[in-house]
Amino acid sequence: MKNKNVMTLIPKESHKISRKDISKNALKVLYRLDKAGYEAYLVGGSVRDLLLGKKPKDFDITTNATPEQMYQLFRNCRLVGRRFRLAHVIFNSEIIEVATFRGYTQTQKKNIFNTNISHRSKNEMLIYENTFGCIEDDAQQRDLTINSLYYNLIDFTIRDYVNGIHDLQTRTIRLIGDPETRYREDPVRMLRVVRFASKLNMNIATETAKPIPRLVTILLKDIPPSRLFEESLKLLQDGYGVRTYHMMRKYKLFQSLFPILACSFTEQEDSKIEKMLVEVLKNTDKRINKAMRTNPAFLFAAMFWYPLLELTTKILKNTKLIYYNAFVLAMNETLNKVCKTIAIPKRITTLIREIWQLQLRMSLRNSKHAWKLIEHVKFRAAYDLLKLRADIENNIDLQRLSQWWNEFQTAILTQQKNMLNILDLDKNYCSDKKVYNVINHSSRSSIIDHNP
Ligand code: ATP
Ligand code: MG
Repeated sequence: MKNKNVMTLIPKESHKISRKDISKNALKVLYRLDKAGYEAYLVGGSVRDLLLGKKPKDFDITTNATPEQMYQLFRNCRLVGRRFRLAHVIFNSEIIEVATFRGYTQTQKKNIFNTNISHRSKNEMLIYENTFGCIEDDAQQRDLTINSLYYNLIDFTIRDYVNGIHDLQTRTIRLIGDPETRYREDPVRMLRVVRFASKLNMNIATETAKPIPRLVTILLKDIPPSRLFEESLKLLQDGYGVRTYHMMRKYKLFQSLFPILACSFTEQEDSKIEKMLVEVLKNTDKRINKAMRTNPAFLFAAMFWYPLLELTTKILKNTKLIYYNAFVLAMNETLNKVCKTIAIPKRITTLIREIWQLQLRMSLRNSKHAWKLIEHVKFRAAYDLLKLRADIENNIDLQRLSQWWNEFQTAILTQQKNMLNILDLDKNYCSDKKVYNVINHSSRSSIIDHNP
């Protein structure tokens, strides 16, 4: 790692960032800050992606103006963030995030310069308070070298304090500073390392990768489950889910994030749970790459379907509950267990339950149910899960059932009526008679619903 005081200045003619590739709103903010006498740079993912010839997801700015000064300067500004105050400059179609240069805190200075023990949480994560600093400090506070490049709109130069350009050229994901200290400061960095390695198809530097499997089991517990939920979506719903899953598994990150799945992992990676994971992530990747909408409820409903079935079977064995009631209890328990690590919001767990319950209801294809089911908002997601199950299990009944629903939902009205008439004549149509009987004879009001 190069000395932190050495900066490489990349002149305009030596890089390919052009003003026309930068959002008009980000340009407005940068010019306004400059006019008011502040230093301001484009930084992070946008500079990295523009240098890689990719379209940036968003345009983050860093400046020596404090959040309060930002608030005074921009009418359309809102201050956000509790641990570290940020300014959001709000435009019609876009929010530009502006952060004041981060500085070293007292605790960090002690750690760096005297190697004194710093404040630690019960799981050994370092706790730092945030303070403002200068650009040189800010460059050291960022996570990866490739995320710590500063573009100056005024003279079109790029500032590199951490050898980020070299790492971009050699396609290397490298944490700035001592990896173990940086992971202890913020364990989410372990997830970010793998996310960017997968997304950008880059290699992780050996010293950056090495501590991850050891630290993940100790440190992940310190991250609030709500943050882990957000991070898990970024990891699995970014268009590279299959690759990210394999990489997370390699570094033991997946196992820590989803212990309920990991306990069924096999060496051959051929359990139903593992097959489902790959299939649902392939499906999600395809949709994202075709710019189709994706819903985390479908992803999670599929991921946790087999653990749910296993638990239902266990409950049935140990209690006198009928199938439907055992299934509902298992839904509650499965979601409770998952939410201990990743806090899936209630609006999503509600949809997950609906997709799961529709699996049972889809076995019932009499005329009354069928019309209702295809009108259900989650019918399409439920059908997609049924299809995945049929493919994974290679089960002829499930395959027939999924084929039937596929035909029914796309058929014209007369064909649909015809399909139902045939079913009504043949009372053996139900692929899962147990489920059929249970749903018809159970009183749903007796079921206690514990939403996590
Ligand atoms: P993308 O938005 O394309 O996913 P990004 O690099 O812009 O990638 P953000 O989460 O938007 O990622 O963060 C913006 C920048 O803030 C990063 O590039 C990095 O410099 C810094 N950053 C984000 N999270 C951390 C962290 N946990 N520790 C240190 N720096 C971070
Ligand atoms: Mg970003």
